[in-house]
Amino acid sequence: MKENKKIIFPEGEDIWRYIDNGSAICNKCGALMEQTDDPETGYAIFKCPSCGWQIEEEDYEYDDGDPEPKRMDRSNEGHV
Ligand SMILES: [Zn+2]
Repeated sequence: MKENKKIIFPEGEDIWRYIDNGSAICNKCGALMEQTDDPETGYAIFKCPSCGWQIEEEDYEYDDGDPEPKRMDRSNEGHV
């Protein structure tokens, strides 16, 4: 059957250590994601063992939950 895998939830600097090593942290729940291949497309993907969220490796970008204002925003009058 399925092996009993421990789900890791890195915090603080550990998050960046994992990311520096090419790992991915789930943007939904913060678990360390598994690197695998999509059986249908063959693309490398990251898959969250905790909540099931998955994303193509190329598209992955760590979201630290800090809403960053978009640079493209048109309403930038008033800011210099
Ligand atoms: Zn998750």
